[in-house]
Formats: sequence, C-alpha cells, structure tokens
Amino acid sequence: MLRMRYRIKNILYKDPESLLDKEITVSGWIRTVRDQKSFAFIELNDGSCLANLQIIADSALLSPDLTTGASVAITGTLKKSQGKNQSLELAAQKIHLYGRCDPTSYPLQKKRHSFEFLRTIAHLRPRTNTQGAVARVRNGLAFATHLFFQKRGFLYVHTPLITGSDCEGGGEMFRVTTLNDSKDLSKDFFGKAAYLTVSGQLEGEIYACALSDIYTFGPTFRAENSNTSRHLAEFWMIEPEMAFADLQDNMECAESYLKFCLNYVLEHCFDDLQFFDQFIEKGLVERLRAVTNSSFAHLTYTEALEILKKAPQKFEFPVDWGADLQSEHERYLAEQYCKKPVIITDYTAAIKSFYMRANDDGKTVAAMDILVPKIGEIVGGSQREDRKDLLERKIETLGLKREDYWWYLELREYGSVPHAGFGLGFERLVLFVTGMENIRDVIPFPRYPGHVEF
Ligand code: ATP
Ligand code: MN
Repeated sequence: MLRMRYRIKNILYKDPESLLDKEITVSGWIRTVRDQKSFAFIELNDGSCLANLQIIADSALLSPDLTTGASVAITGTLKKSQGKNQSLELAAQKIHLYGRCDPTSYPLQKKRHSFEFLRTIAHLRPRTNTQGAVARVRNGLAFATHLFFQKRGFLYVHTPLITGSDCEGGGEMFRVTTLNDSKDLSKDFFGKAAYLTVSGQLEGEIYACALSDIYTFGPTFRAENSNTSRHLAEFWMIEPEMAFADLQDNMECAESYLKFCLNYVLEHCFDDLQFFDQFIEKGLVERLRAVTNSSFAHLTYTEALEILKKAPQKFEFPVDWGADLQSEHERYLAEQYCKKPVIITDYTAAIKSFYMRANDDGKTVAAMDILVPKIGEIVGGSQREDRKDLLERKIETLGLKREDYWWYLELREYGSVPHAGFGLGFERLVLFVTGMENIRDVIPFPRYPGHVEF
C-alpha cells in the first residue's frame, strides 16, 4: 500500500471534505500548546502554508516534551471544528515525538523578534511566520517568472557565473582565484584574471542573436560596498533578451512580466499576502491590485529632471541634467509624483553602460529603468547598440579594451539585429510584493559586507 504523506496545506485547502472523519497522520513543529486541564489544543505548523492545524489532544496523550518547537507526528481523525478561528481540527489518537526542543534555550520562544536578531539565527528563522511567508512568495514569484517567459516562447539560457571579462568595467567584481598570492596570473587556475559575474547580459545577447527570445535567471555578484537596504553582494537576477526588438518591445515585456508576477501571487499566495498586509504593510493587497489594474507611467530622463527641479522638497543630491538619479529622486518620482510604477527612458549617455543604443540627438541612449514606490529602481534595461562602428567608437572613448569585446563586436559584424533586454533584481521584486523593508530579509542567506555566515 502506498502511504499518503499529508501536509497541512493539502488538508486545509485541497479537498477537506474528502478527509473528514478519516484517520490521517500529520507531521510538523509545535507552535503552541494550550492546556485546558483534561485536554489541550496544539497548534501544529509544517511550513506548507501560513495556517496551523489545530490538534485536540486528550491529556493522557500529553507529555512535558510536547513544547513549542518540538517536532511530532500526530495521528488522528479530522473533524469539523467548533471554534470560530478554524474550520477543521484533528482529534489526536497518537502522538509520536521526533525531536525535543528545550524551552529554556530555544531562541524562537518569544512571540516577536526583530528582523535584525532573526538574521543572526538564519538557520531557525524560516520557522517564523514572516520568513515562511517570504519563502513561499519567493517561490511563487520564481515559478511565475518561468511561467511567463515560457508561455511567451522564451528559452531559459544558463549563462556562466565565472567570467573572464570585467564586463561593465566597474570595480565591483569579486575575484575568483586558487592562488594565495595572485601576483602571477599565468599560474592561476584559468591562466588569467577571473571574476564572479555581475550580469549574464552579454552572454544572453549571444543567445538572443541566434534564438531570438531568451531569458536568464540566476545569481549575480557585486562587491559594491553599499550598506543599504536594497543591495546585496549576492542576488538573483532575471535578464530577458529579445532579438528583432526595440525599446517599446522591451517596455511592454517588462510591464507585462511584472503584472503577471503580481497577479500570480495574488492568486496563489493570497494568505501570505494577507499576512504581510496585516503585519508588515497595511494596504499591501490593494496596492498590488492597483498596480496590476493600471498602466505604468512614462517619463523621459529629461522630463524627470524638470519634475525633480520643481519638486516641493529638498534633495540631498543635486538634480542637474547629466547626473545620475539617486535613490531619493527615484522614490520621489514613483512614490510622490506618479504614485505608481514609472518607466524612465532616454537617459543621458554619460551615466549609462557602453552597450546602450545611441539616440539620434547624440546625447541620450535608448535606456529604460522602471522605478517603483518604496524601492526605486527595480528594472534596468535598454535597446542594445547594434551598429558596429558606433559601438567601437563608444568602447574606445570610454577607454575599454577592444580585445575584451571581440566576440561582442562580431555579433554586430555578422547578421546584426536590433535587440533589447532588461535586468530585474529578483529580491527587489520580492520586497515590492511583500512590503518587507530590508532586502536582507527576503533572501534565505543574505551576503553583504562583513556577513557570509551560514
Ligand atoms: P542601483 O542603482 O540600485 O545600484 P544598478 O543600476 O546598479 O542598481 P543594474 O546594473 O541595472 O542596477 O542591475 C539590474 C537590476 O538588478 C537593478 O534594477 C536592481 O533591481 C538589481 N540590483 C542591482 N544591484 C543590486 C544589488 N547589489 N542587490 C540587489 N539587487 C540589485
Ligand atoms: Mn548598483
């Protein structure tokens, strides 16, 4: 006989009627025990959903080992509940203890801990309601990502994590080496300098320039020493790249993708979102619905600067044409001015990467960033420069080494096509969807300056 493994999510949400009055066994961790003298209520959670399963256990079944955090298998009969907080409960017949949990030292005894403290016990924090909900929403968003792109016929391409090219010329890369003293690179593993990738885009372009529509979804690494609530040293990025596509196609794809993700979790992770709405950000569900129900705003970089100059508030950083938008500017535009996600296009060339397609005005490039309330930049994208001569000139004026980009230039020599793509920081999406404040709390094991524990 095949044995069924019941998980609480299936019991409560799938087809509860079919299990009524049947004997089942459920395993999980005890959240609380409420002793009622002749019997006790045990709240059991197995992480499959936010809700606990309520157990009614006769006092004869109880023991001092059944405490918060202990792991158990409980066999019993599923009944309609008399209480008003839940619809079903399990009348226990047998309780098997897997593992004790010493109540005098278990760190999750107390009801509420700060997120800062929970980061120091990242091995236990997934057992909290908040981290469980984050993990389930994160899973939903990852699945929605694949669904969206697969439905549109994009191919999932695996780009390398170790790279030999300092792609964007930034000094933000982690070195990969097997040497203790890396002065003589010819003795190193790859015989030259190697790094952890900051983006799969350039390799993604290679595949788009052969297979038309592709996306990557993997970890990226940035050694930027920015101790902010929106930057990690290791984060996941989704990078679609489309051939025979321009900036308009790019914006359409990004907006549709974001809305698809929101709709997906509104449908499939609703309990978790309601939890965030209640405990993390009031009005969250309404905010997400509003985003799915209206078009994103559009502004050019030049228009955005005019708006910032007229803004009725002081900014720490100057707003001059040619300067990069700072986080405070991005948030003002999305939060105060547009009050919804806004796509900023046609940035000044000076602040953007070499591969972005030059506009005819000679000053701006076909870039598009999406800024959202609370977070600022969530998407950075562009149409890529597909004209070989312009790209060569750009590489030269920026002082990049032409030989590092020989293959990138050859894509423009042999059957060049207009193409465009963007990068979306997955953790920023999780922040946006959950209302969580700090990016360190939406990835299981955050890496940031000074922290590589677990
Ligand atoms: P920012 O200005 O916020 O540092 P960026 O301009 O460096 O972002 P891109 O290089 O365009 O970002 O990367 C694409 C996307 O990756 C960004 O829109 C953002 O969502 C995400 N991202 C970038 N850096 C980080 C980081 N250190 N941690 C988490 N996500 C990041
Ligand atoms: Mn950055």
